[in-house]
Amino acid sequence: MSNYAETKPHAVLTPYPLQGHINPMFKLAKLLHLRGFHITFVNTEYNHKRLLKSRGPNSLDGFIDFSFETIPDGLTPMDGDVSQDLDSLRESIRKNCYQPFCEVLARLKDSANDGLIPPVSCFVSDSFMPFTMQVAEELALPIVLLFPSSAFTFLSVLHFKTLIQKGLIPLKDESYLTNGYLDTKVDWIPGLRNFRLKDLPDFIRTTDPNDLMIEFVIEVADRFHKASAIVFNTSNELESDIMNVLDSMFPSLYTIHIGPFASFLNQSPQNDLTSLDSNLWKEDTKCLEWLETNEPGSVVYVNFGSITVMSQEKLLEFAWGLANSKKPFLWIIRPDLVIGGSVILSSEFVNEISDRGLIASWCPQEKVLNHPSIGGFLTHCGWNSTTESICAGVPMLCWPFFGDQPTNCRFICNEWEIGLEIDTDVKREEVEKLINELMVGEKGKKMKEKAMELKKKAEEDTRPYGSSYMNLDKLIKEVLVKQK
Ligand code: UDP
Repeated sequence: MSNYAETKPHAVLTPYPLQGHINPMFKLAKLLHLRGFHITFVNTEYNHKRLLKSRGPNSLDGFIDFSFETIPDGLTPMDGDVSQDLDSLRESIRKNCYQPFCEVLARLKDSANDGLIPPVSCFVSDSFMPFTMQVAEELALPIVLLFPSSAFTFLSVLHFKTLIQKGLIPLKDESYLTNGYLDTKVDWIPGLRNFRLKDLPDFIRTTDPNDLMIEFVIEVADRFHKASAIVFNTSNELESDIMNVLDSMFPSLYTIHIGPFASFLNQSPQNDLTSLDSNLWKEDTKCLEWLETNEPGSVVYVNFGSITVMSQEKLLEFAWGLANSKKPFLWIIRPDLVIGGSVILSSEFVNEISDRGLIASWCPQEKVLNHPSIGGFLTHCGWNSTTESICAGVPMLCWPFFGDQPTNCRFICNEWEIGLEIDTDVKREEVEKLINELMVGEKGKKMKEKAMELKKKAEEDTRPYGSSYMNLDKLIKEVLVKQK
C-alpha cells in the first residue's frame, strides 16, 4: 500500500551537465516543487561531486520531496574544478547515458512500489539530452524540453538543415571565416531581421561536411516536434516577434522567464529550498561587501561565465583596458579562464588597480548584478547572463565567445539597444573607450534607460498573473499533470 497520495506528481529533471544549463533547470525544479511536485533532479556524477564540494557534504540531502540522482557522463573522472572537454562530453552523453538513466528509473520505480516516493509521472529535460526522449516514449509519459537559450537561437537552430540545403554551410574553406562571407544575409529566416551568417550560433563556422556538432544540433532540432511541450527561459515581451513565428510552427510552446520568477518565489515562506542553489564553484561573497563601498551605478562588473577561455594576451588587453578606464570594477576570473595555464597579472597592474578593482574567482552573479553600485556588465553574452542583466536593468559590453553568444550579442546591441560590442580581437584602447561610453557616455545613458524599461517588463511578466506566471500554471495543467 502506497504511503504517497497517488495524485502527487513526480517530475524527473535532467539538465545538460554545464553550469548555464543546470541553473535554469534547477530553478524550474524549485518552482515545480513549490507547486506540489515531487522532484528528482538528475546530475552527472562529476557535477554532483562538484556541487557537494562547493556546498559541503550532506548539503543536498534531507529535503522533503526533492532529491538527487546521478548518472555517469561516461568520461574519465577528473579531480577538482576542471571544465570538461565540451566535444567529448557531448559525444559521451549521446552514446553512454541512456542505460544509466534507465537504471535510475528502475530504482525510482522500486522506491515507488515500496511507497517511499510517488511514481514518476513526467520528465523535464534539457533539449540537448537526447536519451530522455527515448525513455519518455518507452514509458509513455509526457516530456517537456527546456531549451536553454533564447527563442531566436531556437529559431536559428531550426534552420541549420536549410542552410546546408542552400549550400551556405559548411564553409568552402578556412578563408571564408575572414573574407567577408560571414556577412552574407540570412534574413529570409522569418523573425531574424537583418541577420547575417555571423549572427547565427557559431557552430555554423565549420568547413567539415561531417561536423559532429552540426549533426547533433540537427538531431536535436528534429526531436523538438516529438516533445509534449517546449519551454523557453525568456519572456514574451523580449521576443514577441520570434514567438509569433514559432507559435505557428509548434502547438505547445511556453515562455517562462525562469530566472527572475524563481527569485521572486524564493521569498515565499513556504519554500524550504531557499538555501539550495546549483553553483559548481564556491561563491566568494566578499565581493558583495566590497560593492557596498562604491557609489551607485559606478562599478563595471566583468564576468565571462563558466566556459569561456581566452589567451593570456587577450586577458591582458582586458586588464589594461579596465585599468586605463579608471572606473571601479569587479572582475570574476575563473581559475581555468586562461588557455593552457594559470592567470598571470603583473604587480604593476595589481598596484595600479589596488584602490578601485576587485578580482574574485566566482560570485553570486544575480546578487551582484542587482547591487545598486553596478553600472555596466562586460559579458560573454551567455543566455543566462543576458537575461540576468536585463532583469537587473544593467546595460552590457559584449564580447561573445562561442555557441549562441554571437546571436545573443546581435539582439543585445541591435534589437534591444542595450549593449555595445567589443571586437573579437580585443584591444585595450577599445575596452577603455567602450567602458567610458557605457559608464558615462551619452550612448551609455540611453542604453541604461532601455535596460530599465526591459527590467520593468520582466518584473511585470513574473508577477502573479503576469505571462510567465500564467504560463507556468498552464504548463502544469495542460502538460505535466494533464488529466486523462
Ligand atoms: N554565474 C555565477 N557566478 C559567476 C559566474 C556565473 O553565478 O561568477 C552563473 C550566472 O549567473 C549564470 C551562469 O552561471 O546563471 C552562467 O550561464 P551563462 O548562460 O551566462 O553562461 P555560460 O557559463 O553557459 O557560458
